[in-house]
Amino acid sequence: MSAKTRPDEMGEWAPGTVGEDVMTVHRLIGPLDDPGRTRELKSVCGEGKAVDEKDIWARAVNCPLCLAAP
Ligand SMILES: [Zn+2]
Repeated sequence: MSAKTRPDEMGEWAPGTVGEDVMTVHRLIGPLDDPGRTRELKSVCGEGKAVDEKDIWARAVNCPLCLAAP
């Protein structure tokens, strides 16, 4: 386990999309509890740029790389 985030965020993620691709649902990690910081979220697979819009969805993750991540 890494300790780069606050302890209460470790291991937590939410399903969501990155940028304009709303078909691929990734596992997003980061400040999930702060709606004003959604751009700071990152996909587990590394898809998307820091400036891309991130949207959290109540959908099943379908990105194969995110699903394969530990
Ligand atoms: Zn992904």
